[in-house]
Amino acid sequence: MKLALIGFGQAGGKIVDEFLAFDEQIDGGFVEAAIAVNSATVDLQGLENVPQENRVLVGQARVKGHGVGADNELGAEVTEEDIDEIQGAVDKIPVHEIDAFLVVAGMGGGTGSGGAPVLAKHLNRIYTEPVYGLGVLPGTDEGGIYTLNAARSFQTFVREVDNLLVFDNDAWRSAGESVEGGYDRINKEIVERFGLLFAAGEVGHDDDVAESVVDSSEIINTLESGISTIGYARETVDSDDGLLSSFRGEETFDEGEATNRMTSLVRKATLGRMTLPCDVSSADRGLVVATGPAEHLNRKGVERGRQWLEDETASMEIRGGDYPMSDRDEVGAIVLLSGVTDIPRVDQLQQVAIEAQETTETVKANAQDEFASLVDTGGELDALF
Ligand code: GDP
Repeated sequence: MKLALIGFGQAGGKIVDEFLAFDEQIDGGFVEAAIAVNSATVDLQGLENVPQENRVLVGQARVKGHGVGADNELGAEVTEEDIDEIQGAVDKIPVHEIDAFLVVAGMGGGTGSGGAPVLAKHLNRIYTEPVYGLGVLPGTDEGGIYTLNAARSFQTFVREVDNLLVFDNDAWRSAGESVEGGYDRINKEIVERFGLLFAAGEVGHDDDVAESVVDSSEIINTLESGISTIGYARETVDSDDGLLSSFRGEETFDEGEATNRMTSLVRKATLGRMTLPCDVSSADRGLVVATGPAEHLNRKGVERGRQWLEDETASMEIRGGDYPMSDRDEVGAIVLLSGVTDIPRVDQLQQVAIEAQETTETVKANAQDEFASLVDTGGELDALF
């Protein structure tokens, strides 16, 4: 399916930059346009792939291009004030050619955390195309303010988008990795999962696997509402297998092996690490996408995987299809779960955020009292005026 990507804040911009690289690498064709919005000039300058003319600086009058820090209320305010600047960039997109908007942001910071929900609300009011969010949750070690920001942004973002796709940094960090190196690796994991899903809906229907290819409307229907998470598993296959055996005049395709492989990949994708870990049985809808060389995909494999997921989720709305990719040497399964509700990480995030909010209020009140008693001399000193 064709997307207009809008990266908000530093994380959002970097992830959109990475989406552009991935789209080109797999020749996916799912990015119709890419915009980056930020209140910090340096972050916009650091991007590599988003076209210069699509980089929008907001809040210049207030923060002079230095960013809003971790103040997401300010992030929301400057976005509202400068929404016309962003709209100016969106006006250049041929919106009739896109299937949806995808607004991407890290939810723990200031600009993306505050601005992304404001933009989603604005887009939803103006356009009939669905507006999806891709929200990145902070690591638990980032501290109370990031957790509080993320919990408040999450609450608002999920209300303003048609579907919120979530990636939890906390579930994906590795010990002993630098923060920057870690983000580079994590961003690649993010764009591979979400990129393959969106690219799957972009394959034409004019080849020999036509009927089993995933359609963009199937993705849109799965993303109808709520919160989504993605699982992904893959396995290397010998890409010469088919060619060699057809040269020898043998059977080119081992139906049973392909079916078993796909069924086990769907299980691994679902039961392994998802972008947002959750209780699978709480999903309302699902979509299974088989990726890889067409000669290694078969419809029975997807169908078995789909049925297994139906049993796991007790949902009647599990769709399935292929995304054939000729020059890949691996077969993979993407499992999109949508409308998930049992998410321990979100409960924990909210709990820690409520505590952080209470602590912040107490500290503020104490500081005010202490300051008052510092300057109060009991009337023994007169101020100048
Ligand atoms: P903003 O520029 O004010 O919107 O804030 P940032 O985007 O710099 O940071 C917001 C949050 O996003 C941080 O708390 C991190 O959890 C996360 N983050 C920052 N950079 C990256 C990145 O490159 N990749 C990922 N996955 N997360 C990031």
